[in-house]
Amino acid sequence: MDMRRYNSFSSFARSYFGGEKIHKVNIDAGFTCPNRDGTVGVGGCIYCNNSSFRPSSCKPSLSVKEQVENGIAYLRKRYRAERFIAYFQPYTNTYAPVEELRRLYLEALENPLVAGLAIGTRPDCVDEEKMSLLAGIAKTRFVLIEYGLQSIYDKSLRYINRGHDYNKFLQALRLTSGRGIHTGAHLIAGLPTESREETLHMADVVSGLDIGFLKIHQLQVVKGTRLEADYRREPFHVFGYDEYLEFLAGFLERLNPGIVLQRLFATAPDDILVAPQWGADRHRIHRDIELKLAEMDTFQGKRFHDPVNRTGAVRN
Ligand code: SF4
Repeated sequence: MDMRRYNSFSSFARSYFGGEKIHKVNIDAGFTCPNRDGTVGVGGCIYCNNSSFRPSSCKPSLSVKEQVENGIAYLRKRYRAERFIAYFQPYTNTYAPVEELRRLYLEALENPLVAGLAIGTRPDCVDEEKMSLLAGIAKTRFVLIEYGLQSIYDKSLRYINRGHDYNKFLQALRLTSGRGIHTGAHLIAGLPTESREETLHMADVVSGLDIGFLKIHQLQVVKGTRLEADYRREPFHVFGYDEYLEFLAGFLERLNPGIVLQRLFATAPDDILVAPQWGADRHRIHRDIELKLAEMDTFQGKRFHDPVNRTGAVRN
C-alpha cells in the first residue's frame, strides 16, 4: 500500500506486477448492450447516455490490435507506463458468442506489453462457456471481470431499469468464483430510491462477497438520459461536494480493507453534466478525499469489524 488511506488500484498493480508501472488501455471492441437492443430491455439504464449509444451496425473503425498499439504509444509517452491491461470498457463486453470473445481477447493479449485483461460486463451476460474461456486465459494472465451491479437493492435496480436483480449478480459471482479470475463490482452512490444509511450499508454487504475490486461513484445526471427527464420534472437530491467526501469516508471505513478501489468518483464532461456540478477536477477530488479521510482520522476498513451483516444477503 502506498501512503493513501485506502487500497488503491495503482498500489495493488505495482505490487502485483512486481513494481512495474501498469496502466489500463481502453478498448472499444464494438459490443452493444442487451438492455438496449431488446434482448433484456429497450430503454437501457436510466442514467445511460442515449446519444453515446452505438447501434450494433456501427463498429469502431480501429481493430483491437490497433487500439492497443495506439493506446500504449500514448500512455508510454504521457505516463511512462511500462505494462498494460487491456480494458474492454464500453457497453457489455461479454455480449457475443464465445468464439468471437476468444478472438477479441486474444488479439489484445498478442501485444507483449499487455499483461492482462479487464472486462466490464453485466451479470446477466456470462455463462459457463464464457467463464471457461476466461479461466483458461487466467491460468497465465491477469484477468479481471467487472460486473455492473450499481445497487444491492432491487427497488433501485428496478428504478434505474437495470434489467437484472441483485440475485443475478450473486449468480454471476458464483459462476466466477474459484477459477483464478479476479472479480470486481461497480456501484452508484446516491440513487434517490435509497437512504444514506442504505447506501452506506452496501459497504458492509459487498465486504462479505467474493470480490476483490470495487468502483463506486456519485450518481451523475447526464444530458440525454431518462434520469435527466426525471430530474428536471421533479428534482431529487444529489450529492454536494463536501457531502460526498464525507459519505465516501464513511463508506470506506466500513469496507473490507482487502478490496481494491479502482474508482471513487465520476467526472462526466462539463458539456453533458447536469448535476451535481462540483467544479472540481480529478486531481483536486483525489486530494480532497485524502484530506477528508485525514480530517475524520479514518481509513478503509477502520470499522470493518463492527457487528453488521457481512453475508452478502440483502432483504429485497
Ligand atoms: S449503462 Fe451499460 S448496461 Fe445499462 S444500458 Fe448503458 S450500456 Fe447497457
